Amino acid sequence: MSMFDKNIGQEKKASLEFAEDQREAEWKHPSFSLGLYHGKVDWKLIHPYPRQSEEEKKIGDEYINKFRTYLKENLDPDEVDRTGIIPDEVMKGLAKFGAFAMKVPKEYGGLGLSQVNYNRIMHMISSYCGSTAVLLSAHQSIGVPQPLKDFGTEEQKKKYLPLFAKGVVSAFALTEPTVGSDPRQMTTTATPTEDGEHFLINGEKLWCTNGLIAGVMVVMAVTPPKIVKGKERKQITAFIVEADTPGIELVHRCQFLGLHGIQNGLIRFKDVKVPRKNIILQEGEGLRLALTTLNTGRLTLPAASVGIAKWCLHVVREWSTEREQWGGPIGEHEAVGLKIGNIAAHTFAMDAMTWLVSAMADDKQKDIRLEAAISKYFCTHHSWWIVDETLQIRGGQGYENAESLKARGQHPWPVERALRDVRINLIIEGTSEIMHLFIAREALDPHLGRMKPLLMKGSIGFKLMAALKMAAYYATWYPSLLLPRYSGFSGLHPSLKKHMHFTQMASRRLARLVFHQMMMHQKKLEAKQAVLNRIVQIGVDLFSITATCSYAQSLLDNDQKSNAVQLADLYCQYAKERIDQNFRGSAKNFDKQILSLSKDVLAKEYEWMENEIVK
Ligand SMILES: Cc1cc2nc3c(=O)[nH]c(=O)nc-3n(C[C@H](O)[C@H](O)[C@H](O)COP(=O)(O)OP(=O)(O)OC[C@H]3O[C@@H](n4cnc5c(N)ncnc54)[C@H](O)[C@@H]3O)c2cc1C
Repeated sequence: MSMFDKNIGQEKKASLEFAEDQREAEWKHPSFSLGLYHGKVDWKLIHPYPRQSEEEKKIGDEYINKFRTYLKENLDPDEVDRTGIIPDEVMKGLAKFGAFAMKVPKEYGGLGLSQVNYNRIMHMISSYCGSTAVLLSAHQSIGVPQPLKDFGTEEQKKKYLPLFAKGVVSAFALTEPTVGSDPRQMTTTATPTEDGEHFLINGEKLWCTNGLIAGVMVVMAVTPPKIVKGKERKQITAFIVEADTPGIELVHRCQFLGLHGIQNGLIRFKDVKVPRKNIILQEGEGLRLALTTLNTGRLTLPAASVGIAKWCLHVVREWSTEREQWGGPIGEHEAVGLKIGNIAAHTFAMDAMTWLVSAMADDKQKDIRLEAAISKYFCTHHSWWIVDETLQIRGGQGYENAESLKARGQHPWPVERALRDVRINLIIEGTSEIMHLFIAREALDPHLGRMKPLLMKGSIGFKLMAALKMAAYYATWYPSLLLPRYSGFSGLHPSLKKHMHFTQMASRRLARLVFHQMMMHQKKLEAKQAVLNRIVQIGVDLFSITATCSYAQSLLDNDQKSNAVQLADLYCQYAKERIDQNFRGSAKNFDKQILSLSKDVLAKEYEWMENEIVK
């Protein structure tokens, strides 16, 4: 190992330790998905599928109708895309409707909407204008309202929350030019003044959505280190920063593939003086705050994704019936038909997952950290693929932009814009890869907890006791996973019941797989991303089957939508195919060969392949 490799190893270890230190360690409430990775399908945590009360639904319906009518009459999303501006009049109109205070409690002048109703509105807006959806979501889900609502002091809430009803926009500033997924690298500092009453913030924040128009923002910065267990620990603290504070410079507006209307930029902080009382939560608790806030904050992304997927389903249905080639509508050609069925089935699964997890967030009786990450990953991944397939079905018209289509008298479905707008969802609020790591870490938690005493420093006697305790636990746990168990799904339609029986058996198989991999790789498992990815993916698909079956049954029982069972049945078969593939891949794969080739590519062994191109 070279010196360079050694340093990378230490840096990696330090980043992992830092992330570990910041994670929410306790499981105060039951977690359905945690159970899935340990052989337990706790159906009653999911079913009956949660439904809005009549009163709640009415509130949501009213706001959706109001916002939809307003946006359709006042906002042209293609113009936003072309000009890069959401007009001032629309910003004022949105403020008048309370769009910037949707999640702010009524006592602070907000609309006080539930997570489900807020997500229903975001779902609708996302199907119309990506830039407007991201403006509202960055403000509300990760900007000032959510962390303040959850963790702010009464003084902070009274001072800042009423601003949002007046249309003040907020932002969240964590990312820096050299800091993306790994916050330990953060370089923006907040240094206490001599009297300790203020902090001076210095540094740069990148890609801060709304940062250029925000009145107030949450800024993450490094405060003086603390000694924890004899070791110096980096401290990251969250501050509420008013945008007109001297020393803040808006350096650059960033331009992107899509979302042309968002006001996202590079912001410089030079001796920006912020009072100590503007710390949210506590000094050193900034990252924990961000991670906890994101558990509900990132639920906007599944809602947005399913809104787009449903819009695609609409476009695909209309276009595939209307467009005729080779003697008939294109939807009647099998290649297109296969795509349509796939889009419908996956849109249904995304819908099932989104509203289930949103309701769980309102209910607050279940731990949703895994479900939030799973639905973020699952829905953003599938919506991207669905928009891509929609573009393919639209053919050349899919690639042409809406204004050009309109000028030629064609139906101006903006699939091209949707494709550009939707791609970022796989990157923001935790990339897909980071979601996988997060899910893996949380899913393995009970095993790691049991193994911890063995990995810690201690006497031989202490370790022996720990090993015996662990062996006693696994001696009963493991054989229980081998016994067949088909129960607990009474009242479920037979087509759905069979998928839940599969889920029950597959969850036990998954638990055995996790255990085998833990035994094989021990502490090194956390770095075995190829192994972990398959484990994670199986759990994701098992959760998707559960949500889908429960949702279909609910639609059947309450809305007499009997064909929902058909959608669920088809979706579950897709998911099962992926699950089988991942189990097979866990036993037999060519990961080593791929990773070895990747190393050679990075070491320029294949630079010769990059020939005859413009570099
Ligand atoms: C349009 C837009 C809006 C944004 N809005 C905001 C905002 O409002 N506030 C804010 O603070 N930030 C914002 N961001 C930043 C966004 O959150 C980051 O882009 C994201 O966290 C990823 O960081 P990165 O782009 O630096 O990628 P990197 O962290 O550099 O990662 C690059 C690639 O490597 C992968 N990778 C990294 N580490 C690992 C690992 N350990 N294992 C496996 N794979 C890994 C990543 O998944 C990714 O594919 C925004 C970005 C964009 C483009």
